[in-house]
Amino acid sequence: MASFLDMGIEFLKGVGPQKAEALRLELNIHNLGDLISHYPFRHEDRSRIYTVSELSSEQVQVQLQGHVFLKGVIGQGQGRRLTALFRDETGEIELVWFKGIAFLEKSIKNGALYRVNGRMSLFKGKANMAHPELDWVDPNAASQKVQRSLVPVYPLTDGMRRRRLDNRFMAQLTLTAVSHPDFAVPENLPTAILEKFKLPSRTEALRELHAPQHIDRLEKAKNRLKFEELFYLQMRHLMVKGNRQRSFPGIRFDRVGDLFNTFYQKHLPFALTGAQKRVMKEIRVDMNSGKQMNRLLQGDVGSGKTMVALLTALIAMDNQYQVALMAPTEILATQHFQSLQEALGLMPVRLHLLTGSSSKKQRETILSEAADGRLQLLIGTHALLEDQVQFQNLGLVIVDEQHRFGVAQRAKLWKKGQQTPHVLVMTATPIPRTLAMTLYGDLDVSVIDELPQGRKPIQTALRSIGNRAIVMDFLKKEIALGRQVYYVFPLIEDSDKLELQSLMSGYETVTQYLPTPQYKYSLVHGRMKPEEKESEMQKFKKGQSDIMVATTVIEVGVNVPNASVMVIENAERFGLSQLHQLRGRVGRGAEQSYCILLSGHKLSENGRRRLETMVATNDGFEIAKVDLELRGPGEIDGTRQSGILDLKLADIRADEAILIAARTEAQAWLAQDELLMLPSSAPIRLELARSPHRTLWSKIS
Ligand code: ADP
Ligand code: MG
Repeated sequence: MASFLDMGIEFLKGVGPQKAEALRLELNIHNLGDLISHYPFRHEDRSRIYTVSELSSEQVQVQLQGHVFLKGVIGQGQGRRLTALFRDETGEIELVWFKGIAFLEKSIKNGALYRVNGRMSLFKGKANMAHPELDWVDPNAASQKVQRSLVPVYPLTDGMRRRRLDNRFMAQLTLTAVSHPDFAVPENLPTAILEKFKLPSRTEALRELHAPQHIDRLEKAKNRLKFEELFYLQMRHLMVKGNRQRSFPGIRFDRVGDLFNTFYQKHLPFALTGAQKRVMKEIRVDMNSGKQMNRLLQGDVGSGKTMVALLTALIAMDNQYQVALMAPTEILATQHFQSLQEALGLMPVRLHLLTGSSSKKQRETILSEAADGRLQLLIGTHALLEDQVQFQNLGLVIVDEQHRFGVAQRAKLWKKGQQTPHVLVMTATPIPRTLAMTLYGDLDVSVIDELPQGRKPIQTALRSIGNRAIVMDFLKKEIALGRQVYYVFPLIEDSDKLELQSLMSGYETVTQYLPTPQYKYSLVHGRMKPEEKESEMQKFKKGQSDIMVATTVIEVGVNVPNASVMVIENAERFGLSQLHQLRGRVGRGAEQSYCILLSGHKLSENGRRRLETMVATNDGFEIAKVDLELRGPGEIDGTRQSGILDLKLADIRADEAILIAARTEAQAWLAQDELLMLPSSAPIRLELARSPHRTLWSKIS
């Protein structure tokens, strides 16, 4: 049935060939189905008219009525703008437009009565409104045309605006479409779910979304559409997981052998925390289940993920499989190599390190040993991904600090085995549960939510740069006690040269207070060669330097338990999760550790909130929550690339309850009908067939 939705957009009343062309080019809207899938991102309440005297600077969206007086065009280039004065009985504000100036200048009737819709803001203490929408109020018309009280606001492109196809145009089009007698869309949720949650039909919901009649009904419509969005997000995750488990039988690691047992009984340097034990149990069950493991291991900085990785690797090796461990930087890969080598001591495990700076000869040995199976554990950077690296029987892939790796990169490693290896992805970025569900819905998640015993919580203080001298005195005292200090500078620009400059001038400042050669320094920055970096790191690790001055290259994973102070200059320039990662470099030994955030005097509201959060809590999950709130999910590390969070309506922060309901329903549905064969699953089958996108992503995590 060629439905109403397939009708070309040019056939809709009010759309000629030219406008149709613009809709196609600018918004990818070809037919009515596309049009109603172009959701408004908010609705404006035009049910009431405000007066200027009622306005406060924080008002979201207001409607005013009064006279508009053109003032003219001022400014040059980017700042060129048209201004007008708006006046009602209670006061005046300024109206400003930066675009469409010529047209507006011609069409605004100077001094006439207008309805004005827009957002209020304060600029240099004066109230103004940028790009308001104007509706001329005809004093002679018997009664003003009835205003819609809830107006949908659509995403528009500049190209649309240039053609003067504005929001009013879009709102009129969708209104025409959804008011058409033939308007109907196929239902994509099963009846049982609609009834259970008393959700409106898809047709009703879309009609209300585009042409709202009532705020309550609009709310219900939005909830239904959000549910639908999240339900299908989860459904896709779960289908992918199901497919994967059906098509790739996991290698069965059913032996816990000599390596694991000997290590556990004789070489484990400390007792595992309860959380580490629990996670190990989860991993062992997974790897012996006959299903391929795809597990995300979340644990705050310092929670001891490396030990879990090692124990997991030993199980794989006990079962005669090879293991690859990949870290995002050379420093980290080297550190892993060294600490695992040290932990393993004289145990018979053949391990190698492969990085960009491995010599040709080393590479040759590694490649041949990996291929013939002699090599048991290969640790490295991106170098592991190269095609020449082939394993004889790769059984386990461990990826450290997951967010540094792109999706495609992980996929490459995953494909290196004959069979599908088990995958353990470790991350220190604490992700709120809702985000984890959305992003990694098809992964199993293990959490280390407990730090090793005897750790004292890091004390965090916020100081302004005016107090640098006091901070430096404190550093002297700590160093006199035999401790070490990290001193971190932000990357001001994304340029190596500037990085070096700012680091060097920072270093000079520090040495004024803590002079050489009395105080010994390590210096690490992104411009150094890996060997140089490594040697500076080693100096610090061995206690041959007191202070490590660095840019954020030390952000993740570096482990020097004797370091007790982390100073972060211009802390307001860092994101929350980065600050938390940096702070995690200290507090790794038994000593009391400190984090000192130095900030400039002028802080943005968000900047202040970030620093205050750091002072208030050490809890990574708490910090992740605030981070999500301040930045939005699209900005959280590693999620931007996923494209998975381009939800149209749902907001995983605000709509947690809907997300959980949607996930529960999707799980329950698949538990009943794994392959969606039952007649009642027909709407789901159709919807998945209609939009099969986004399925690939998580297969490879
Ligand atoms: P992360 O989870 O940040 O990778 P690491 O694995 O580097 O943390 O561990 C941080 C420090 O804690 C290391 O020095 C490690 O040896 C130590 N550690 C790990 N587990 C324990 C434990 N159960 N008890 C005491 N110390 C531990
Ligand atoms: Mg680590």
